[in-house]
Amino acid sequence: MRALMAAQENAQERLDHLTDLIAEEAGWDVCSIYLARPSQALELCATHGLKPEAVHKVRLQPGEGLVGFVAGSVRPMWTANAREHENFSYKPETGEEPFNTFVGVPILRGGRLVGVLTAQTEAERAVAEEEIETLQTVAMVLAEIVASGDIAEAEEMAELELRQSKPERFQGGAYSGGLAMGVAVVLEPHVGSEHLIADDSEREIERLDLAIAALRAGIDDMLEGGRIPFGGPTRDVLQAYRMFAHDRGWLNRLREAVQLGLTADAAVERVRNENRARLMRSNDQLFRERLHDLEDLANRLLRHLDDAQSQMIEHLPDNAVIVARNIGPAELLELDRSKLRGIALEEGAASSHAAIVAKALGIPLVGGIEGALDKTEAGDTLIIDGEFGLLHIRPTDDVVATYKERMQALSDRRQAYAELRGPSVTRDGKRIQLSMNAGLLIEMTQLEETGADGVGLFRTEFQFMVADTLPRLDAQATVYKSVLDAAAGKPVVFRTLDLGGDKVAPFAPSTVEPNPALGWRAIRMGLDRPGLLRYQLRALIQAAAGKPLHLMFPMIAAPWEMRAARDMLDRELRHAKRRGHDMPTEVKVGMMLETPGMAWAIGEVLDTLDFVAVGANDLMQYFFAADRQNARVAERYDVLSPPALGLFKQIRDACAAKNVPVSVCGEIAAKPLEAAVLIALGYDSLSMAAAHIGPLKKIVAGLDAGKLGTWLASHLNDPVNSLRPALTAAGENAGLPKEAVENTVKI
Ligand code: PEP
Ligand code: MG
Repeated sequence: MRALMAAQENAQERLDHLTDLIAEEAGWDVCSIYLARPSQALELCATHGLKPEAVHKVRLQPGEGLVGFVAGSVRPMWTANAREHENFSYKPETGEEPFNTFVGVPILRGGRLVGVLTAQTEAERAVAEEEIETLQTVAMVLAEIVASGDIAEAEEMAELELRQSKPERFQGGAYSGGLAMGVAVVLEPHVGSEHLIADDSEREIERLDLAIAALRAGIDDMLEGGRIPFGGPTRDVLQAYRMFAHDRGWLNRLREAVQLGLTADAAVERVRNENRARLMRSNDQLFRERLHDLEDLANRLLRHLDDAQSQMIEHLPDNAVIVARNIGPAELLELDRSKLRGIALEEGAASSHAAIVAKALGIPLVGGIEGALDKTEAGDTLIIDGEFGLLHIRPTDDVVATYKERMQALSDRRQAYAELRGPSVTRDGKRIQLSMNAGLLIEMTQLEETGADGVGLFRTEFQFMVADTLPRLDAQATVYKSVLDAAAGKPVVFRTLDLGGDKVAPFAPSTVEPNPALGWRAIRMGLDRPGLLRYQLRALIQAAAGKPLHLMFPMIAAPWEMRAARDMLDRELRHAKRRGHDMPTEVKVGMMLETPGMAWAIGEVLDTLDFVAVGANDLMQYFFAADRQNARVAERYDVLSPPALGLFKQIRDACAAKNVPVSVCGEIAAKPLEAAVLIALGYDSLSMAAAHIGPLKKIVAGLDAGKLGTWLASHLNDPVNSLRPALTAAGENAGLPKEAVENTVKI
């Protein structure tokens, strides 16, 4: 087989040669290779024993015939009497009537079906387990030959989907913005074709045994040494890993594959492939989870086997772009940030932990890109477009040139914004506080970089969302203290846990709710399960010893919830004092205004509040009854409609009447036209993702807030769906800077 891999033949010759070799060596009358076309049909691409005229002519649809059956089940099958089988489909052009015994094995790569390898004999006979194993091993080699690209260059196979040399462009989700170009680092180890076949099987068994021992020791170490890394797998998962790492079935399959001539690496990959193919076809949640664990274990084992792979991860190349099925937050944080440029994931979602961390690190991430792993080889040039959710693999020169221009423009803009680090003042002299939203300690460096006035919203739940276990009081306090230290005296407003709805923590009780956005979330959870909130308040008080503590409660929907939350805080303050702890120098308590009902009841609580923060994302979701997570309705209504602006004005006026500072911290605070309107309504404090601060400063500097205020006063009762067209038309006559009207300010 080794000779075959090395042969200087073209791909078609290799396939033909391979079918001859298998048939002759193993005594089959027929051996055929069917490969999947982009249309999913399986095309006869090479045969020994069937009519040569049928090659590249016969195609079977998914599910058609025994070949389609193997493809559908992604499992080997055999029968001594093919014509009797219920899936048999007769193709006269192949001349296969005389052959009774049939065996087919799927050709898999990266868990995906590449084709089907079949063998047949005239004689009716049983097929031994070892014969199937051998065909499976051959199928693995075949998958590599197909993927190597040679085959696709053969003229008659130009449509084949699997070659790895052509440029590829994938559309996925844009989960962390920005652009990156660099060298592919494939996190999921893949064994190249040159390492599939072993020279010395004894030695491979030894390597496998050593790697398994190292794998087991690593798991034991984490479990027993209490070294479960923050954000890493939980104890339960580790225990499951330990069980699998001692699972005889799994280990036997690995050893058998090595005994058949594969390298240890190839054996692990083959077993992983088979598991994954089954996983992808199963709807059974528990089974899927078990297989996910097995897959992770196989990846760890491959890293133990392949020093180069672990070296690659430990010593990333400059400009590394990671490609992975998925990546945990801990794994992501372990990578060398100075070299990591971008990430592409096959799975992942906007709210996934990887996306949260990537955003915090300012690393572009695209997700939901099925097939990325299959199409990428380590070392390929990749481009990640976090603006439009694109992944380019091996881009052509003109694509590279276009992106280079875009990246240059981006870096010029960043440079220009970095120079605007001074205080933000409108054209008519109004000082506007621009603060940043943050959720992870690593984001705090941006406070200095952007010149933000402080942190207007610190989303404490992120620490909980990226952890598999409940962060303990000390761990919480350490993070909060580090955040305050990093802020170096600038104010930080901590928001207490806002879990539930779209924000899910792995350890939180997972109740399936019909309407999660209207369900048991945020302060509702905090008041019903006071243990969690009380601990958090205690951690915040402890962290702010000797410093001011500013905190606010999310999703208050009725005055009594604010009072109950405040009582809980007061109790914790008394508790700390009684114990003689160092206390914060001042405590300022705020309310997030996120429900329309509370906007009407605000008068009942203002006297007890030090500040109000309008959570405009949620407030507008409830105002328009349009789920912010649901793309079909999220953009349906415009915040710049007179009723919504009326609500913002009412809130701001109520706060101003009682001298309670009020800010806005939803997404709209970062949008040029919306932010200008909020300022004109009297809001002088906005909080947004760090990347928006520079661009918004530019808008503020060009805005005549007084003039826009006058314009708005005479339009707030217009009978229109949105004031956007009128504002855009009025432009500078309404005091608006050109960039806000044209929406030309970019991050
Ligand atoms: C909001 O709702 O506007 C807000 C700032 O909070 P979050 O987006 O975290 O719900
Ligand atoms: Mg909110």
